Amino acid sequence: MTSDDQGATPLDAATQTETRTDMSQAEDREGVTAGAATREIEVSRDRRPPPAEVTAPGIRLRNINAYYGDVHAIKGVDLDYAPNQVTAMIGPSGCGKSTLVRCINRMHEEIPGARAEGEIMLDDFDINSAEVDVVAVRRAIGMVFQRPNPFPTMSIFDNVAAGLKLSGIRGVNTRDRVEQSLRGAGLWDEVKDRLSSPGVSLSGGQQQRLCIARTIAVEPNVILMDEPASALDPIATLRIEDLIQELKEHYTIVLVTHNMQQAARVADTTAFMLTGELVEHAPTEKIFSNPGDPRTEEYVTGKFG
Ligand code: ADP
Repeated sequence: MTSDDQGATPLDAATQTETRTDMSQAEDREGVTAGAATREIEVSRDRRPPPAEVTAPGIRLRNINAYYGDVHAIKGVDLDYAPNQVTAMIGPSGCGKSTLVRCINRMHEEIPGARAEGEIMLDDFDINSAEVDVVAVRRAIGMVFQRPNPFPTMSIFDNVAAGLKLSGIRGVNTRDRVEQSLRGAGLWDEVKDRLSSPGVSLSGGQQQRLCIARTIAVEPNVILMDEPASALDPIATLRIEDLIQELKEHYTIVLVTHNMQQAARVADTTAFMLTGELVEHAPTEKIFSNPGDPRTEEYVTGKFG
């Protein structure tokens, strides 16, 4: 299954309009200082620390190998995603970031000819074993895609409620859960008076928060986000980044991003990948100021990628 075949037509959010405000706010938050030969990335000081109380499980990857036919796209990756933290995945295009995260909720294997091997431990449970209920895995490990993909014929309310229906969740008060999810996604105040309007009537950034509401409606443990803001303008991007920081209070978050400033703004730890291998995973400050591997340093200082 890909982002495009969840029963929804992804919309071209770039063509949507988002409320425009003073762009200098976005620039202030950019945290980038241009150097003569290199680029320095400042790690945001207002980034939230991980919550004191751990409420979500972490994920442990052991010796993950993923293939597209004969193409060996992920090569022996070991990586621990800490509970209630944001882990950013960075690296040049084609290095395997998306493939790796699609392995985590068993979506990679939906691609014809694709397979993945290795242990994916959610707590003490290997969710990559053959006998696991894949639907249950995807309920526990939700995913948000690059392009907001609300169900095009459904209202705002029904888009969120659809998350419950598709996961076969019964016995909850749908109205309450929809409100709680929209509040959790930071969208309630903007939509509470027009819940029956089409989901696609929202701006691109609002649609992405609607998709986040749909994801959290089923109360997952982990949220995988594959470039969730790359189709959005800078202001909508900042809202998503703020939301990610709020979401880590309840969920473990994996954030794929091609945008190193974004990793520096929101991620507690950052993992750098290159040609299907994990080069380094460390606290975000270390990755951007004192990485352990020269390849990481070359990448974060803009020498390639
Ligand atoms: P990234 O997310 O870092 O840009 P990807 O995970 O998309 O990288 O890609 C990793 C490698 O897998 C690349 O070499 C890419 O060409 C290959 N790949 C990705 N998707 C497919 C696919 N559907 N079929 C075949 N190869 C693919």
